[in-house]
Amino acid sequence: MTQAAPLLQVFNVSKSFDVPRRLGAPPGKVHALDDVSLEIAEGETLGLVGESGCGKSTAGRAFLRLIEPDAGEVWFDGENLTAAIPRRMRALRKRLQIVFQDPYSSLNPRQKVADMLAEVLTVHKVCPRAEFPDRIATLLAEVGLPPAAAGRFPHEFSGGQRQRLGIARALSVGPDLIVADEAVSALDVSIQAQILELLGRLKAERSLSYLFITHDLGVVRYFCQRAAVMYLGRIVETGPVRALLDDPLHPYTRMLRAASPVPDPAAARKTVQVTGEVPSPLAPPSGCHFHPRCPLATAACRHARPAVTDMGDGRQVACHLYG
Ligand code: SF4
Repeated sequence: MTQAAPLLQVFNVSKSFDVPRRLGAPPGKVHALDDVSLEIAEGETLGLVGESGCGKSTAGRAFLRLIEPDAGEVWFDGENLTAAIPRRMRALRKRLQIVFQDPYSSLNPRQKVADMLAEVLTVHKVCPRAEFPDRIATLLAEVGLPPAAAGRFPHEFSGGQRQRLGIARALSVGPDLIVADEAVSALDVSIQAQILELLGRLKAERSLSYLFITHDLGVVRYFCQRAAVMYLGRIVETGPVRALLDDPLHPYTRMLRAASPVPDPAAARKTVQVTGEVPSPLAPPSGCHFHPRCPLATAACRHARPAVTDMGDGRQVACHLYG
């Protein structure tokens, strides 16, 4: 699928959650991920896009085994993560980090920044304790925070600064791959640009790879080399960002494009107007999950799941129009 050696390979990962009986509704199962496969090359940024509730965040967590997949395999740098014993997994965690949308919720409000970073350095045995002050000062400088930040509490920072703290914490253990889960979505546009610039610089300086989870196609166009489009737990289209956004193949990708600003008038003519909302993952539609919203749906779409078709030039699409 990609030119450089794959760093992360995801094969047929599925994950569902039991939902208990509530308010008269029977118990059920949320099908969050359904046979998801993708890969990220060394040094690549892959955008994972889709509407809210489509399974993107679950995917990011399942790929890092922060939640356990029900089925499928995840390989990292040639090693089967899904088969790693706990001690090996703890070692691999240093190379696999995550940055959340709301760093405040993942920061201890009673812990100063220096203590928070020292805790991570201790848990992961990154360096001798005597080196902590220098290491922490270097990390803060790397993410654009002043040395005095080490003595402050999380509530003393702005949203953008807190995201820099979240990035510093991820960097502290020397990762190779960072999952950025809607990492800039809650920020003002000007702050978004600063954080994206920071992530881009760190990628170049540290040879990082990113799985960049977002609902914002503008951010994907700016920041990612390739993108995977997810709908109700399934990947429906993947490809190089420019081709995927300028000439979307899957009707759902076209719908997402229709909802975004269109810099290319030729691309605008290929959009498909689709109405409706994402169905409940408690009861996903049969066949192609997108068929209730798709103006091009046929009888086959209601009954048969579309296979993934290789369209060449690094593009794949799961739709009966191309099978
Ligand atoms: Fe639409 Fe059918 Fe393609 Fe699904 S498989 S996106 S319903 S045309």
